[in-house]
Amino acid sequence: MATHFDLLAIGAGSGGLSVVERAAAHGARCAVVEPHELGGTCVNRGCVPKKILWYGASLAHSLREAGDYGFSLSTGKFDWQRLKTVRDAYIGDIRGWYGDSLTDTGIERIEGSARITGPKTVAVGDKSYSAEHIVIATGSSPYVPEIPGAELGVNSDGFFELDQCPQRVALIGGGYIAVEIAGMLRAYGAEVTLMLRGSKILRNFDNMLREVLLEEMLDNGINILSSVQVQQVRETPAGEKTLSCNTGLELGGFDMLLWAIGRTPNTTGLGLDRVGVKMRDDGHILTDDYQNTNIPGIYAIGDVTGRFPLTPVAVAAGRRLADRLFGGMPDRHLPYHNIPTVVFSHPPLGSVGLTEAEARVRHGRAVKVYQSRFSPMYAVPLEHGQKSAMKLVTVGADERIVGCHVIGPGADEMLQGFAVALRMGATKADFDDTVAIHPTSAEELVTMR
Ligand code: NDP
Repeated sequence: MATHFDLLAIGAGSGGLSVVERAAAHGARCAVVEPHELGGTCVNRGCVPKKILWYGASLAHSLREAGDYGFSLSTGKFDWQRLKTVRDAYIGDIRGWYGDSLTDTGIERIEGSARITGPKTVAVGDKSYSAEHIVIATGSSPYVPEIPGAELGVNSDGFFELDQCPQRVALIGGGYIAVEIAGMLRAYGAEVTLMLRGSKILRNFDNMLREVLLEEMLDNGINILSSVQVQQVRETPAGEKTLSCNTGLELGGFDMLLWAIGRTPNTTGLGLDRVGVKMRDDGHILTDDYQNTNIPGIYAIGDVTGRFPLTPVAVAAGRRLADRLFGGMPDRHLPYHNIPTVVFSHPPLGSVGLTEAEARVRHGRAVKVYQSRFSPMYAVPLEHGQKSAMKLVTVGADERIVGCHVIGPGADEMLQGFAVALRMGATKADFDDTVAIHPTSAEELVTMR
């Protein structure tokens, strides 16, 4: 086995695998170090298992709505274990594809935990390796607060290991993970209480999306408590969790408590202090526009940098770094703006570009906003209505679109194409000049007045 490489990535998640695969395609000799399964959080404990469960939850909604469309259905019992088995088999297949791809492309897979021992050297166990370029792509892990009884709860990793659907759940947090899991568990029939330390969900998203989703979650029967923080967790002999809160509130009877209050970068044991790699106060590795750390030849990509901790961002940053280092593209890098993102809530929402509030701070009176709230046509026969809402944020006399925000059925699939339009500098006139696809929800975006 080789011990010297052109590029060595630490972490075989979305970022690490992308950088070695692209670098190898450019002819570089590469290795990737990973102590666990290939695929990282996204494949094993994140996007992939979540999306399968999200499809199942969406189906649960459809089954309930089928009656309003005239179907007479008896759905019987939901088999969580079956769905989990199918889901986990699919994840196993993805890991297998990754393994085959590493072999086919001649990328060395080194199993173990890496420790950077110098600007060009890495130790794994008792073995030493060297590389011209070292890429840190170690990702992040769920954060759990240091309060008495916190260990009685699970985090998102534990959620994906559940063998059955919990019945009465307390979810702490109001970010991506909390609202996604709340929507799914509610659809599967659980009683869900979402506890926010502030008053709103999804900080950083446009206020319209935050408000509409909150209304929809309440309509779906999710219990939402705001301005409350859990200070202690206890468990009864029967395994039920009781939460004591800062407001004096005591809530009991939960069969599952789930922490979804953010993630911390995985840097422990990497030896960053030893080589002098600079980190922010919150532990994220500092990188410039080109993913360089302060140490020449050491780079960081993905969640560990804290910049848009999303899978496709890590992939894009990794591929561009490899293009820059080995592909003869010296200026290739990922600009961290106009990054589309979707929250797989029920209903889903998606965003690209500036929120209205951000645009107003940046561009003041030059901002003009177009928005629309409506009930999608699918909801016409339904007893329990549905909402969709869309917003375009424009700037200047030519009304260049700087923000596009959508919530409602189909929002998740809608955003990708509009993200291309924003990236290309589309104006409101370009949208107006585009022939609508009728009847769809997406046509609202090209017909807004
Ligand atoms: P987020 O950063 O999205 O949200 C964290 C939430 O936890 C916020 O609501 C925050 O409240 C709250 N919070 C933080 N600390 C505490 C505390 N001590 N007590 C109570 N509440 C607290 O983190 P997530 O864990 O939900 O997700 C991590 C990241 O993973 C996301 O930022 C996203 O980048 C990625 N992700 C992406 C998905 C997607 O693309 N669909 C899906 C899932 C995850 P406040 O708002 O008040 O600060």
